[in-house]
Amino acid sequence: MAKMRQRGVSAIAWDDWVMRPVLIVANWKMNTTPADAGRLAAAMAAATDEPLVDRVICPPFVSLTAVGEALRGTGISVGAQNVHAEAFGAYTGEISAPMLAGLATWCIVGHSERRRDDGETDALIGRKLGRCREFGLRAILCVGESLEEREAGQAESTVRNQLAAALAAAASFDGGLDPGLVVAYEPVWAIGTGRTARGSDAAAMADAIRAACAESGVADPAALAVLYGGSVTSASIGEFLAEPSIDGALVGGASLKVDEMAGIVARAALTARARHAAADLAPAGHA
Ligand code: PEP
Repeated sequence: MAKMRQRGVSAIAWDDWVMRPVLIVANWKMNTTPADAGRLAAAMAAATDEPLVDRVICPPFVSLTAVGEALRGTGISVGAQNVHAEAFGAYTGEISAPMLAGLATWCIVGHSERRRDDGETDALIGRKLGRCREFGLRAILCVGESLEEREAGQAESTVRNQLAAALAAAASFDGGLDPGLVVAYEPVWAIGTGRTARGSDAAAMADAIRAACAESGVADPAALAVLYGGSVTSASIGEFLAEPSIDGALVGGASLKVDEMAGIVARAALTARARHAAADLAPAGHA
Protein backbone atom coordinates (compact mmCIF):
# COMPACT_ATOMS: atom_id res chain seq x y z
CA MET A 1 0.00 0.00 0.00
CA ALA A 2 1.18 3.55 -0.75
CA LYS A 3 2.66 5.27 2.26
CA MET A 4 3.24 8.93 1.34
CA ARG A 5 3.21 9.72 5.03
CA GLN A 6 6.06 12.18 5.17
CA ARG A 7 5.32 15.72 4.09
CA GLY A 8 8.76 16.47 2.63
CA VAL A 9 9.71 15.02 -0.71
CA SER A 10 13.11 14.08 0.68
CA ALA A 11 11.39 11.95 3.35
CA ILE A 12 9.41 9.79 0.94
CA ALA A 13 9.99 6.05 1.29
CA TRP A 14 10.36 5.31 -2.40
CA ASP A 15 9.79 1.59 -2.00
CA ASP A 16 6.17 2.28 -1.08
CA TRP A 17 5.52 5.31 -3.21
CA VAL A 18 2.98 5.54 -6.02
CA MET A 19 2.00 8.76 -7.73
CA ARG A 20 -1.74 9.22 -7.78
CA PRO A 21 -3.43 12.06 -9.65
CA VAL A 22 -5.36 14.75 -7.79
CA LEU A 23 -9.08 14.78 -8.60
CA ILE A 24 -11.80 17.32 -7.80
CA VAL A 25 -15.36 16.24 -8.54
CA ALA A 26 -18.30 18.66 -8.50
CA ASN A 27 -21.66 17.15 -7.59
CA TRP A 28 -24.31 19.68 -8.55
CA LYS A 29 -27.07 17.43 -7.16
CA MET A 30 -30.60 18.57 -8.17
CA ASN A 31 -29.51 22.10 -9.04
CA THR A 32 -29.30 24.05 -12.31
CA THR A 33 -31.47 23.77 -15.41
CA PRO A 34 -30.30 23.02 -18.94
CA ALA A 35 -30.71 26.75 -19.62
CA ASP A 36 -28.18 27.85 -16.98
CA ALA A 37 -25.93 24.78 -16.51
CA GLY A 38 -23.83 25.47 -19.61
CA ARG A 39 -23.09 29.02 -18.50
CA LEU A 40 -22.11 27.85 -15.02
CA ALA A 41 -19.87 25.13 -16.45
CA ALA A 42 -18.14 27.62 -18.75
CA ALA A 43 -17.53 29.97 -15.83
CA MET A 44 -16.15 27.05 -13.77
CA ALA A 45 -13.83 26.08 -16.61
CA ALA A 46 -12.46 29.60 -16.89
CA ALA A 47 -11.89 29.83 -13.13
CA THR A 48 -10.34 26.38 -12.62
CA ASP A 49 -7.85 26.13 -15.47
CA GLU A 50 -5.35 23.84 -13.73
CA PRO A 51 -4.48 20.99 -16.11
CA LEU A 52 -2.54 19.04 -13.45
CA VAL A 53 -5.79 18.63 -11.48
CA ASP A 54 -8.27 16.12 -12.89
CA ARG A 55 -11.63 17.91 -12.79
CA VAL A 56 -15.10 16.42 -13.24
CA ILE A 57 -18.49 18.16 -13.20
CA CYS A 58 -21.56 16.03 -12.48
CA PRO A 59 -24.73 17.97 -13.39
CA PRO A 60 -28.27 16.57 -13.42
CA PHE A 61 -28.94 14.15 -16.31
CA VAL A 62 -30.92 16.74 -18.29
CA SER A 63 -27.95 19.13 -18.24
CA LEU A 64 -25.28 16.65 -19.36
CA THR A 65 -25.45 17.81 -22.98
CA ALA A 66 -25.27 21.52 -22.16
CA VAL A 67 -22.39 20.98 -19.75
CA GLY A 68 -20.56 18.70 -22.18
CA GLU A 69 -20.76 21.36 -24.89
CA ALA A 70 -19.60 24.09 -22.54
CA LEU A 71 -16.63 22.00 -21.37
CA ARG A 72 -15.45 20.82 -24.80
CA GLY A 73 -11.72 21.52 -25.15
CA THR A 74 -11.30 22.55 -21.50
CA GLY A 75 -9.90 19.27 -20.17
CA ILE A 76 -12.73 19.01 -17.65
CA SER A 77 -14.74 15.78 -17.79
CA VAL A 78 -18.47 15.26 -17.39
CA GLY A 79 -20.01 12.80 -14.95
CA ALA A 80 -23.48 11.52 -14.14
CA GLN A 81 -24.79 11.47 -10.57
CA ASN A 82 -26.37 8.04 -10.81
CA VAL A 83 -27.04 5.15 -13.17
CA HIS A 84 -29.47 2.22 -13.22
CA ALA A 85 -28.16 -1.26 -12.45
CA GLU A 86 -29.68 -2.74 -15.62
CA ALA A 87 -28.66 -1.86 -19.15
CA PHE A 88 -32.15 -1.78 -20.73
CA GLY A 89 -35.70 -2.71 -19.84
CA ALA A 90 -38.99 -1.77 -18.26
CA TYR A 91 -37.70 0.74 -15.70
CA THR A 92 -39.78 3.84 -16.24
CA GLY A 93 -37.94 7.08 -15.73
CA GLU A 94 -34.52 5.49 -15.28
CA ILE A 95 -31.23 6.15 -17.10
CA SER A 96 -28.82 3.32 -17.93
CA ALA A 97 -25.08 3.16 -18.55
CA PRO A 98 -25.30 2.69 -22.35
CA MET A 99 -27.59 5.75 -22.55
CA LEU A 100 -24.79 7.84 -21.05
CA ALA A 101 -22.34 7.03 -23.85
CA GLY A 102 -21.13 10.29 -25.36
CA LEU A 103 -22.68 12.32 -22.54
CA ALA A 104 -20.56 11.33 -19.54
CA THR A 105 -17.31 9.51 -18.85
CA TRP A 106 -17.71 9.35 -15.06
CA CYS A 107 -20.54 8.35 -12.75
CA ILE A 108 -21.16 8.80 -9.01
CA VAL A 109 -22.46 5.56 -7.51
CA GLY A 110 -23.89 4.94 -4.03
CA HIS A 111 -24.21 8.53 -2.86
CA SER A 112 -25.58 8.61 0.70
CA GLU A 113 -28.57 10.68 -0.42
CA ARG A 114 -29.57 7.83 -2.73
CA ARG A 115 -28.91 5.22 -0.04
CA ARG A 116 -31.15 7.29 2.28
CA ASP A 117 -33.90 8.43 -0.13
CA ASP A 118 -34.02 5.56 -2.62
CA GLY A 119 -33.11 2.65 -0.37
CA GLU A 120 -30.01 1.76 -2.36
CA THR A 121 -28.28 -1.26 -0.84
CA ASP A 122 -24.63 -2.21 -1.13
CA ALA A 123 -25.56 -5.12 -3.40
CA LEU A 124 -27.47 -2.81 -5.77
CA ILE A 125 -24.63 -0.29 -5.69
CA GLY A 126 -22.21 -3.08 -6.59
CA ARG A 127 -24.32 -3.99 -9.62
CA LYS A 128 -24.24 -0.34 -10.68
CA LEU A 129 -20.45 -0.45 -10.42
CA GLY A 130 -20.39 -3.54 -12.61
CA ARG A 131 -22.62 -1.84 -15.16
CA CYS A 132 -20.35 1.22 -15.22
CA ARG A 133 -17.38 -1.03 -15.91
CA GLU A 134 -19.28 -2.88 -18.65
CA PHE A 135 -20.07 0.35 -20.48
CA GLY A 136 -16.82 2.19 -19.89
CA LEU A 137 -17.90 4.70 -17.24
CA ARG A 138 -15.39 5.55 -14.48
CA ALA A 139 -17.21 5.08 -11.20
CA ILE A 140 -16.85 7.15 -8.04
CA LEU A 141 -18.11 4.88 -5.26
CA CYS A 142 -19.37 6.77 -2.19
CA VAL A 143 -19.07 5.20 1.25
CA GLY A 144 -19.41 6.62 4.74
CA GLU A 145 -20.79 6.11 8.21
CA SER A 146 -23.66 7.82 10.03
CA LEU A 147 -23.11 9.86 13.18
CA GLU A 148 -24.51 7.03 15.31
CA GLU A 149 -22.08 4.57 13.74
CA ARG A 150 -19.14 6.91 14.35
CA GLU A 151 -20.14 7.53 17.95
CA ALA A 152 -20.49 3.78 18.49
CA GLY A 153 -16.92 3.29 17.24
CA GLN A 154 -18.17 1.56 14.11
CA ALA A 155 -17.07 4.05 11.46
CA GLU A 156 -14.36 1.86 9.97
CA SER A 157 -16.30 -1.39 10.13
CA THR A 158 -19.29 0.30 8.46
CA VAL A 159 -17.19 1.54 5.58
CA ARG A 160 -15.36 -1.77 5.24
CA ASN A 161 -18.68 -3.64 5.13
CA GLN A 162 -20.07 -1.25 2.50
CA LEU A 163 -16.98 -1.81 0.35
CA ALA A 164 -16.90 -5.58 0.78
CA ALA A 165 -20.56 -6.00 -0.18
CA ALA A 166 -20.50 -3.59 -3.12
CA LEU A 167 -17.22 -4.89 -4.54
CA ALA A 168 -18.37 -8.52 -4.22
CA ALA A 169 -21.43 -7.69 -6.33
CA ALA A 170 -19.35 -5.72 -8.84
CA ALA A 171 -16.76 -8.49 -9.16
CA SER A 172 -19.38 -10.92 -10.44
CA PHE A 173 -19.72 -8.91 -13.66
CA ASP A 174 -17.67 -9.79 -16.74
CA GLY A 175 -14.33 -8.01 -16.54
CA GLY A 176 -14.31 -7.97 -12.73
CA LEU A 177 -13.38 -4.91 -10.73
CA ASP A 178 -12.39 -1.71 -12.48
CA PRO A 179 -8.72 -0.89 -11.79
CA GLY A 180 -9.68 2.78 -12.29
CA LEU A 181 -12.26 2.77 -9.50
CA VAL A 182 -12.35 5.90 -7.32
CA VAL A 183 -13.71 5.76 -3.76
CA ALA A 184 -15.14 8.85 -2.05
CA TYR A 185 -15.19 8.72 1.74
CA GLU A 186 -18.21 10.80 2.69
CA PRO A 187 -19.23 10.63 6.35
CA VAL A 188 -23.02 11.04 6.22
CA TRP A 189 -23.00 13.52 9.11
CA ALA A 190 -20.73 15.85 7.14
CA ILE A 191 -22.76 16.05 3.93
CA GLY A 192 -24.52 19.36 3.49
CA THR A 193 -24.21 20.10 7.21
CA GLY A 194 -21.25 22.46 7.29
CA ARG A 195 -19.43 19.97 9.53
CA THR A 196 -16.30 18.29 8.19
CA ALA A 197 -14.29 15.33 9.39
CA ARG A 198 -10.80 16.02 10.66
CA GLY A 199 -8.12 15.54 8.04
CA SER A 200 -6.41 12.91 10.19
CA ASP A 201 -9.66 10.91 10.56
CA ALA A 202 -10.25 11.07 6.81
CA ALA A 203 -6.67 9.92 6.19
CA ALA A 204 -7.05 6.97 8.56
CA MET A 205 -10.23 6.01 6.75
CA ALA A 206 -8.47 6.30 3.38
CA ASP A 207 -5.91 3.76 4.61
CA ALA A 208 -8.73 1.47 5.79
CA ILE A 209 -10.46 1.86 2.40
CA ARG A 210 -7.33 0.76 0.51
CA ALA A 211 -6.90 -2.19 2.86
CA ALA A 212 -10.54 -3.22 2.40
CA CYS A 213 -10.26 -2.85 -1.37
CA ALA A 214 -7.17 -5.06 -1.36
CA GLU A 215 -9.11 -7.72 0.55
CA SER A 216 -11.90 -7.47 -2.02
CA GLY A 217 -9.55 -8.07 -4.92
CA VAL A 218 -8.86 -4.55 -6.24
CA ALA A 219 -5.76 -5.15 -8.34
CA ASP A 220 -3.55 -2.25 -7.23
CA PRO A 221 -4.91 -0.64 -4.04
CA ALA A 222 -1.87 1.62 -3.76
CA ALA A 223 -3.01 3.28 -6.97
CA LEU A 224 -6.63 3.58 -5.84
CA ALA A 225 -7.76 7.21 -5.66
CA VAL A 226 -9.57 8.07 -2.42
CA LEU A 227 -11.45 11.37 -2.18
CA TYR A 228 -12.92 13.08 0.86
CA GLY A 229 -16.43 14.54 0.66
CA GLY A 230 -18.54 16.37 3.19
CA SER A 231 -18.98 20.16 3.29
CA VAL A 232 -15.63 20.79 1.59
CA THR A 233 -14.95 24.46 0.86
CA SER A 234 -11.99 26.50 -0.33
CA ALA A 235 -11.22 27.09 3.36
CA SER A 236 -11.25 23.42 4.40
CA ILE A 237 -9.81 21.63 1.35
CA GLY A 238 -6.23 22.26 2.52
CA GLU A 239 -6.68 20.12 5.64
CA PHE A 240 -7.59 17.11 3.50
CA LEU A 241 -5.04 17.59 0.76
CA ALA A 242 -2.31 17.93 3.39
CA GLU A 243 -2.90 14.21 3.98
CA PRO A 244 -0.90 12.19 1.44
CA SER A 245 -3.47 9.39 1.42
CA ILE A 246 -6.26 11.74 0.24
CA ASP A 247 -6.32 12.40 -3.49
CA GLY A 248 -8.94 15.09 -3.81
CA ALA A 249 -12.54 15.88 -2.99
CA LEU A 250 -16.13 15.27 -3.95
CA VAL A 251 -17.72 18.67 -3.52
CA GLY A 252 -21.45 19.32 -3.22
CA GLY A 253 -22.77 22.73 -2.13
CA ALA A 254 -19.55 24.64 -2.78
CA SER A 255 -19.34 23.23 -6.31
CA LEU A 256 -22.13 25.57 -7.42
CA LYS A 257 -20.04 28.64 -6.53
CA VAL A 258 -17.41 29.67 -9.04
CA ASP A 259 -15.19 31.43 -6.50
CA GLU A 260 -15.29 28.44 -4.17
CA MET A 261 -14.36 26.02 -6.93
CA ALA A 262 -11.57 28.35 -8.06
CA GLY A 263 -10.12 28.22 -4.54
CA ILE A 264 -10.56 24.47 -4.18
CA VAL A 265 -8.90 23.69 -7.50
CA ALA A 266 -6.10 26.20 -6.88
CA ARG A 267 -5.29 24.40 -3.60
CA ALA A 268 -5.52 21.04 -5.33
CA ALA A 269 -3.04 22.27 -7.94
CA LEU A 270 -0.44 22.81 -5.21
CA THR A 271 -0.72 19.16 -4.21
CA ALA A 272 -0.71 18.03 -7.84
CA ARG A 273 2.45 20.03 -8.54
CA ALA A 274 4.16 18.60 -5.44
CA ARG A 275 3.27 15.07 -6.52
CA HIS A 276 4.57 15.68 -10.03
CA ALA A 277 7.79 17.13 -8.61
CA ALA A 278 8.18 14.05 -6.41
CA ALA A 279 7.55 11.80 -9.39
CA ASP A 280 10.34 13.60 -11.28
CA LEU A 281 12.71 12.76 -8.41
CA ALA A 282 11.54 9.20 -7.97
CA PRO A 283 13.90 6.35 -8.78
CA ALA A 284 12.99 4.48 -11.96
CA GLY A 285 9.87 2.36 -11.57
CA HIS A 286 8.27 4.43 -8.80
CA ALA A 287 6.49 7.27 -10.60
C1 PEP B 1 -21.80 15.51 -1.80
O1 PEP B 1 -22.84 15.77 -2.36
O2 PEP B 1 -21.20 14.49 -2.12
C2 PEP B 1 -21.29 16.40 -0.77
C3 PEP B 1 -20.17 16.11 -0.18
O3 PEP B 1 -22.06 17.52 -0.48
P1 PEP B 1 -21.58 18.77 0.42
O4 PEP B 1 -20.23 19.19 -0.07
O5 PEP B 1 -22.63 19.81 0.17
O6 PEP B 1 -21.53 18.32 1.84
